[in-house]
Amino acid sequence: MKQDVIVIGAGIIGLATAERLLVQGAKVTILERNKAGQESSWAGGGILSPLFPWSYSDAVTSLTSYSALQFPDWVSVLRETSGIDPEYEISGMLILPPYDEEIARRWCSIRGIKLEQCRACDIHSTHTVTTDRMNKAQNCALFLPDVAQVRNPRLLRALQSRVELLGGKIIENCAVNHLKITDQHIQSVATLCGEFTADNYIMCAGAWSKEILGTHALKLDIKPVKGQMLLFKFDAPPIPAIIVQNDLYLIPRRDGHLLIGSTLEDVGFDKQTTIAARNSLLERAQTILPSLEKMPIKQHWSGLRPASLENIPIIGRHPVIRNLLINSGHFRYGVTMAPASAEILANQLTGSVQPLDTTPYQSGWGIN
Ligand SMILES: Cc1cc2nc3c(=O)[nH]c(=O)nc-3n(C[C@H](O)[C@H](O)[C@H](O)COP(=O)(O)OP(=O)(O)OC[C@H]3O[C@@H](n4cnc5c(N)ncnc54)[C@H](O)[C@@H]3O)c2cc1C
Repeated sequence: MKQDVIVIGAGIIGLATAERLLVQGAKVTILERNKAGQESSWAGGGILSPLFPWSYSDAVTSLTSYSALQFPDWVSVLRETSGIDPEYEISGMLILPPYDEEIARRWCSIRGIKLEQCRACDIHSTHTVTTDRMNKAQNCALFLPDVAQVRNPRLLRALQSRVELLGGKIIENCAVNHLKITDQHIQSVATLCGEFTADNYIMCAGAWSKEILGTHALKLDIKPVKGQMLLFKFDAPPIPAIIVQNDLYLIPRRDGHLLIGSTLEDVGFDKQTTIAARNSLLERAQTILPSLEKMPIKQHWSGLRPASLENIPIIGRHPVIRNLLINSGHFRYGVTMAPASAEILANQLTGSVQPLDTTPYQSGWGIN
């Protein structure tokens, strides 16, 4: 591909898109307002699946399933080229009640996805709730053994390194302020560090995408939704699998770190952490893992997810400005969706055949 491309935003989506384009021979510059990979993509949990996969549309399922297939190979290329291990691991995901078992079973069976029913305590280690402390309903759980996770901060560092090794230029502290558009064509982008021109421009600024586009956002519905997370450190993983109950999840890392998330807060661009959220996460997590009571919180942070309608991202060309594309609005599952979204965007740019029906990802502009 003999094209100059400017990518706006160096989160997981901007970096994965840049990587894909670089592999295909494009010349890529990423403009990043702060430091690469420090916003939502850093703040997330790194679970590589929707939490209750059966509650989403086919548009979400096809993207997450296609991505999940790509992860093992993608991560090994990143590890080998960068020397950084993103710790991809198939740890499985245990879902505690309430859930609709009938719907879950049917959904998994149609798609050939493994689903096991187990007593929650079977999978718990000594740290966790014992049978007599659990009520009867909690003693049943659904287990998705093939769900994987990555350590997203490591994935981001590996990806950044690979982008640079492939010749991509990442310019940090370079906020894009304005798109200079004439005749339905971007002529240049004005940034804090000067003006940049390219053949094509790709908006990957996550929760900030709509604001940067201004009136050119048309009816794009992307907004920030805050999520707060807590981090603990045990000597060894206190649970062998990811555990989910309602909107709460516990993610064990190999080295004993345990992440607890997350809130869903529609509070604009406010990234403050709050005592109320900390207490609520902690209280709910302790009913699943009582040993947390004695553990100090190591870190408490938040991130702004790029929320979209029904969690369906917008991937593709702007309907009016022909050299503008977007890859944004991945809401709760941007880490999971990154490799597939990058491939779809790159195919759009080159006019290549898509691996799946991409129509749902082009309807977010609100006009046909
Ligand atoms: C608490 C939490 C838990 C999550 N857990 C998971 C999970 O377990 N699994 C999963 O798949 N997903 C998870 N997510 C969602 C996932 O993190 C997001 O969908 C994903 O990070 C979106 O990636 P992005 O690159 O679009 O956005 P971001 O990572 O936010 O990147 C956008 C980038 O654009 C830059 N930018 C903004 N404005 C400008 C500008 N004017 N000029 C230049 N650059 C700009 C920002 O600085 C930023 O670096 C979670 C998110 C949160 C917050």
